[in-house]
Amino acid sequence: MNRAATTLLPIALLVLLSGPAVARAQEPQAAPPANAAAAPATPDTPAAVSGAAGVPAQPAGGADPWAALGLPPAGAAGAGQAAGSDDAWGFDTEAKVETWADILRPQATDLALMSLFFVFALVSFFRKSQPLKYATLAMSVAYLGITKSTLISVTDIFRFVHWDFPEFKYSIAWYLIGTFTVVTTLLWGRLYCGRICAFGALTQLLDAVVPKKIRWEPSAKVERYAGYVKYVLLVAVVGYYAVTDHFTIYRYVEPFWMYTRQGSVLLWTMLGTLLVASVVVRNLYCRFLCPVGAMLGLISQVTTLFRIKRWSECKTCKICERTCEWGAIRGPQIVRSECVRCDDCERLYEDEQKCVHWIVVHRKAKNLRVGEKVGA
Ligand code: SF4
Ligand code: SF4
Repeated sequence: MNRAATTLLPIALLVLLSGPAVARAQEPQAAPPANAAAAPATPDTPAAVSGAAGVPAQPAGGADPWAALGLPPAGAAGAGQAAGSDDAWGFDTEAKVETWADILRPQATDLALMSLFFVFALVSFFRKSQPLKYATLAMSVAYLGITKSTLISVTDIFRFVHWDFPEFKYSIAWYLIGTFTVVTTLLWGRLYCGRICAFGALTQLLDAVVPKKIRWEPSAKVERYAGYVKYVLLVAVVGYYAVTDHFTIYRYVEPFWMYTRQGSVLLWTMLGTLLVASVVVRNLYCRFLCPVGAMLGLISQVTTLFRIKRWSECKTCKICERTCEWGAIRGPQIVRSECVRCDDCERLYEDEQKCVHWIVVHRKAKNLRVGEKVGA
């Protein structure tokens, strides 16, 4: 199978299979998908961003702010409650006792496809295969982005402020992507950023097709200081939410709403500017601006159980530092908070023709063999 087929076949399968899930998503649900990007971005009018009395806009007829984002509230009510039932004798209530099968049935396709996607992403990661990596990125955009609008968002971080989480049984997909993200970050670092996030995947694919000559590469010093901006944004936006409860601020600090294809003129203008700037500065948002990337970077810096190996020659050789498109290699060190486990440097370490470590090893072995022949 050629490279294009390897890339396109799994994507086509995933999108085709996700058809029923999309159709079901349009039916009334007991609990909507638990992610902010799945929520339509309402027009950017003051009334939509803040309520008429200066409080967060609330969904019609409800006091739960998460519902306005399409997020399930903590302790969501069971799906079996038929609103407005005219069954005065309660026969229906007795007949509609909710079982786990009832709960899982509408989520099953979604969970199966998402699990398959995660397995595929892990296979591409462990095999260090570039075609499989690009297939994963394309699947992320097509499936998690365009089809499902499911991304880890700063609103998921907001949930920790009030310790307000969706009820597990109605939001298993939310817990699945959340657990996958946290566990892989603890083990390998920002694997979510390098493979799963549908916005990061889009900019990486953009990067693969944009000619290098129109790029602007910031100096190492600019890169280092600009990298701190995302941490400032993370603290600012979470602090702002903690003080004001205005969760709609998320739309102004992350572009993930774009997959809902619903935004105001201001939001589309901001997004257009960001994408144009990303053509010139590679992975601009991920490297310098993303609060979610900042949060995952902090976790990676402290944990990352399985780190990228370094040779002693890495102290002087600069080949992989120049290879890293994320500015994560600084001299002999890999800055774990910036590394997204893209595999580029790891593929290089395995290349016995390019990596200085292997060239030195082979040269030593050759000299040894020559020495043995001379000695004999
Ligand atoms: S830095 Fe943000 S936008 Fe980029 S891949 Fe990570 S989570 Fe996604
Ligand atoms: S090239 Fe290496 S250090 Fe840089 S982001 Fe990729 S895996 Fe991390």
